[in-house]
Amino acid sequence: MAKRILITGGAGFLGSHLCDRYHKEGWDVICMDNLITGATSNISHLIGKERFEFIKHDVTNYIVVDGDLDMILHFASPASPIDYLEMPIQTLKVGSLGTHKALGLARAKNAKLLLASTSEVYGDPLEHPQKESYWGNVNPTGYRGVYDEAKRFAEAMTMAYHRFHGIDTSIVRIFNTYGSRMRLKDGRALPTFFRQAMRNEPITVFGDGSQTRSFTYVDDLVEGIYRLSLSSEVEPVNIGNPEEITILEFAKEILEVTGSKSEIIHEELPHDDPQVRQPDITKAKKVLNWEPRISRSEGLKRTLKYFKEQIG
Ligand code: UDP
Repeated sequence: MAKRILITGGAGFLGSHLCDRYHKEGWDVICMDNLITGATSNISHLIGKERFEFIKHDVTNYIVVDGDLDMILHFASPASPIDYLEMPIQTLKVGSLGTHKALGLARAKNAKLLLASTSEVYGDPLEHPQKESYWGNVNPTGYRGVYDEAKRFAEAMTMAYHRFHGIDTSIVRIFNTYGSRMRLKDGRALPTFFRQAMRNEPITVFGDGSQTRSFTYVDDLVEGIYRLSLSSEVEPVNIGNPEEITILEFAKEILEVTGSKSEIIHEELPHDDPQVRQPDITKAKKVLNWEPRISRSEGLKRTLKYFKEQIG
């Protein structure tokens, strides 16, 4: 019998790519999403196929799934800074109440739960690059606190269910990821820069652009998560591409790949915007034999193709 997996947030950017992967690997996939930031267009190619089911549900409420489950990937949450600033309470609720419901379901079904956590648990990091052992530098009452603290709580709750109830769990700390199915309007740097560049509008770099990020192409991320889900690693694992770049340089790369004539303008830096971010992936290499394979230049070309189709 095929193994059965529930993916919360399954109609989102990452969730939908995970639905594809597990479906392709022969799993029976249940995609659950309340469609606040997810979209059925991300999973329309799966709807109607065998071994795929979509359930519209908000996981902050009790989750009902009939039959057995082998695995739950808990990916439901707004994840772009603009989204979680617009939906602060929903973001806190899905990270806390939603994670509790998903863990309760995992316990009832004797299923493994893999939690989608984030590099945001490191806040504005004082250790660089960030290893999993770093506890972070988070402002709990700042604007980003709604996401950072929700995910920190979610990690604590996941470990408590593992230690107290003995359920099988994994935690992935996801660094900035990009690729097809990102919403052009989600406010994150990459889709915003693409949108602006493709329309020859000014590129809005926040602050002087000296802050850094490290961007992972979605296929690399999915491979890392797939391996982690099948592993017995319980403690958090960073999955990200360690190639670090300043946001200003990144804006210039997007100008180049799009062949745009846009000028770069500077706007105010948002509150608590991390100054640096770069994963240390020693652990992922060791326990999952994983490392990213797709260079930024290749990933950006593939992403441009997607955005062209969207805008066209
Ligand atoms: N950023 C920017 N211009 C934009 C959107 C974002 O300069 O139009 C910056 C943002 O301040 C941050 C970086 O790009 O320093 C990455 O932001 P993003 O929203 O993609 O995600 P974050 O890594 O901050 O969660």
